[in-house]
Amino acid sequence: MWFRRDLRLADNPALAAAIAQSQTDKQAKVLPVYVLGPRTWAAMSPVQKHYLASSLKSLNESLGGALVIKYGDARQIVPDLAAQIGATNVHAAQLHTPNAIARDAQVAAALEAAGRELTFTGSAYAVAPGRVTKDDGTFYKVYTPFYKNWLKHGWRVPASAAVGNQDWISNIPSDQFPDLPEIDNFTLPAAGETAVLARWEYFKETAIADYADNRNRPDIDGTSMLSTALRFGEVHPRTLLADLDDSPGHEVFRKEIAWREFYADILFNRPDTTTGYYNVAYKAMDYDTGDLAAQRFNAWATGNTGYPLVDAGMRQLRTTGWMHNRVRMVVASFLIKDLHLEWTLGAEHFAQWLTDFDVASNSHGWQWTAGCGTDASPYYRVFNPTGQAIKFDPNGDYVRQFIPELRHIDGPAVHEPSLVIDGLIHGYPEPIVNHAQERIEALARLEKLPKGKVQSAVNPRENDQSKLIQSFE
Ligand SMILES: Cc1cc2nc3c(=O)[nH]c(=O)nc-3n(C[C@H](O)[C@H](O)[C@H](O)COP(=O)(O)OP(=O)(O)OC[C@H]3O[C@@H](n4cnc5c(N)ncnc54)[C@H](O)[C@@H]3O)c2cc1C
Repeated sequence: MWFRRDLRLADNPALAAAIAQSQTDKQAKVLPVYVLGPRTWAAMSPVQKHYLASSLKSLNESLGGALVIKYGDARQIVPDLAAQIGATNVHAAQLHTPNAIARDAQVAAALEAAGRELTFTGSAYAVAPGRVTKDDGTFYKVYTPFYKNWLKHGWRVPASAAVGNQDWISNIPSDQFPDLPEIDNFTLPAAGETAVLARWEYFKETAIADYADNRNRPDIDGTSMLSTALRFGEVHPRTLLADLDDSPGHEVFRKEIAWREFYADILFNRPDTTTGYYNVAYKAMDYDTGDLAAQRFNAWATGNTGYPLVDAGMRQLRTTGWMHNRVRMVVASFLIKDLHLEWTLGAEHFAQWLTDFDVASNSHGWQWTAGCGTDASPYYRVFNPTGQAIKFDPNGDYVRQFIPELRHIDGPAVHEPSLVIDGLIHGYPEPIVNHAQERIEALARLEKLPKGKVQSAVNPRENDQSKLIQSFE
């Protein structure tokens, strides 16, 4: 059993398939394996490493210590291990990102050459990418019709837990489990299947009823914070969906799960959009480069732009590995439209720091903000970072939580510290740009794009823009 984005035992059809096969053949046992690419590991931030290492530790405990970790290239390690134990099949859940598809094809070919099989059961989605199509077989490019047909397609009930008293292969030595790096100041959400299911229960008890109203408020613990668990597969979305009814909070939550599935479907059908423009007309946008651009990027990345909501978000990212969705949109808009930097720079930074980093949701979340994605927020809609702060962090509590230099300012005045006497006394910077001016500059750059092509990726007949924006925000 090759674990990848499914670090759990419950509702794990691939694991169930491996166990079922071993039970058919009484002589067979299962070897649970996780392969860690050294380059992937080296590129991860401390918070990302901490989360993954904790999750692997938890999975190992659930497996009674049977998990074998190997460092290296899966294309070599998986076929080698299969040969070592004489496996007929390597079981895994199917992955759908371009890199994983290419890698898995090579693993499958190497296994096949030795008379073995890579057997996929299930995926990381309720409905696997590629399954929800229009009547003519093409993929949906707009969320709402995708959502309707995704619902119509439906999904299986969660697979029952399969492990029981499973006998695992125990004579293959594991490499050392990764150490948990030190994390300063903040307690990260607990990793592992048990902690994640407890978080889900807590969210259902305390927040899901008000989710439709509170999900935009970074100062409230109003969202599930399960994106990292979904990224590593500590819980399957089907398990969450199975608990939902038709009440308003549940409805909206189901729609958010569907955004994740929609973006996975888009990336599956447009693998070039990992880093490439979904609407290529925006490739011609004039972005800043050079020393000043680099300095501004650095101010953004470290949370020192002088715009408190932006800085709180960027510091939340660095210290906790997660950022609230509303704030992700604000910081992304700020990078692209106030600093005039290309969205790919921001997407790369998020990839390095988010524990929930998911290539489909990340690239398309960024492209939505940059105006070049599916259902994109029109480019001319520029978020006002101070207005957003006053609206969604009305008392300033979120900003004070992440920016110690502003904790001496009470109430919403914290959103404009340079207007407060002694507001900057603890070293918080003046705004690095003037939002009103940069907004005009952003719109001027939009005007320079070749006319007629800018909105061409979206068919207006299919696209109920205002509703989509509301549902997304
Ligand atoms: C610029 C940008 C980058 C993003 N990068 C990522 C990323 O790398 N990984 C990631 O999982 N999400 C990403 N998102 C989407 C969203 O911000 C997070 O999924 C959400 O904040 C996670 O918090 P939560 O689990 O509490 O969400 P909840 O509000 O509890 O939502 C439940 C689940 O629905 C899914 N979901 C919710 N909103 C979205 C959305 N807009 N797009 C896709 N799925 C969604 C997530 O799986 C989430 O866990 C990004 C959004 C933006 C604007």
